[in-house]
Amino acid sequence: MSSANLKENYSLRHLISFRVGGEARFFCEIETNEQFLEVKKKAIQQNKPFFILGRGTNVVISDKGFDGYIVKLSRSFSELSIEGSILKAKTATPLSRIARSSIQNNLSGMHLLAGIPGTLGGAIYMNAGAYGQEISQTVIEVKSINDQGQIITRDNAACSFSYRHSIFQENKECILEASFQLTLGSKDALEKEMNTVMQKRRDSQPLEYPNAGSVFKRTPQDFPGALIEKAGLKGFSIGGAMVSPKHANFIINTGNATAQNIYDLTSVIIETVFKQTGITLEREIIFLGDF
Ligand SMILES: Cc1cc2nc3c(=O)[nH]c(=O)nc-3n(C[C@H](O)[C@H](O)[C@H](O)COP(=O)(O)OP(=O)(O)OC[C@H]3O[C@@H](n4cnc5c(N)ncnc54)[C@H](O)[C@@H]3O)c2cc1C
Repeated sequence: MSSANLKENYSLRHLISFRVGGEARFFCEIETNEQFLEVKKKAIQQNKPFFILGRGTNVVISDKGFDGYIVKLSRSFSELSIEGSILKAKTATPLSRIARSSIQNNLSGMHLLAGIPGTLGGAIYMNAGAYGQEISQTVIEVKSINDQGQIITRDNAACSFSYRHSIFQENKECILEASFQLTLGSKDALEKEMNTVMQKRRDSQPLEYPNAGSVFKRTPQDFPGALIEKAGLKGFSIGGAMVSPKHANFIINTGNATAQNIYDLTSVIIETVFKQTGITLEREIIFLGDF
């Protein structure tokens, strides 16, 4: 790896959808599997934490920064191919591109994921989903690489998918690519369905402000948004972080939010909702570093 690739004390704000947070002690945009292994090895040797960043649409990094290595997989990890009804994509491919390409090829199964602003890797890691579609529903297999450089192929069952969960949250391997079994559909009908859900997003979500999508996971009892609204917290703010007046399960950066403001707001929400209902909300957003 050329040392020019490894940046020190690198601000990540522009790579995080919330536009907040501090610097990574080390940051590297990765071009190849070998580079990935090289940087991972450095982190292990120096006993530093290591984090793979996708599009940063589900992550908040502490204002104090991250005393470790953060890597982002470059455009060389963005590729998509379709053969018959099987779609294959590499990890840095935007989910929106995958959804739109599937529609263009008259393929159904991922078209409702078009509005999720992350990468394939982030979506597999989180088992992202929307409007009744979850990425896990169509996964045939996922390829990943471990610390020893072994490429591992897992079929759908071996990925242990469940609601917003996959095995990659435990094993910390780097997701490289995935293939999906889609079903034949009609381009026009799929496009119409996609446009309908995209409009629903625009109508119900505060997309005009920096945010990271749903803050809390669904609970068996009720939607987090409904619980937060009932708790009277819609519009409540700490510093520049506000519970969106449009959708209570979104926190927005009204301009000058810090990562700590966002974290503190989630803590107040958890405490207030618990006091009023006995329900414990669980954060979906990943908070990285010290809070
Ligand atoms: C406006 C908006 C709307 C959203 N709507 C939805 C929605 O409807 N449904 C939904 O599920 N989510 C939604 N999200 C959240 C987010 O987009 C998803 O969770 C997305 O899958 C995250 O992808 P990412 O590339 O941004 O990952 P990041 O946020 O960068 O990372 C998320 C996690 O994935 C891990 N990761 C990323 N790439 C890899 C890799 N190659 N190998 C291993 N681990 C990896 C990271 O380490 C991190 O732990 C929304 C976000 C926003 C801002």
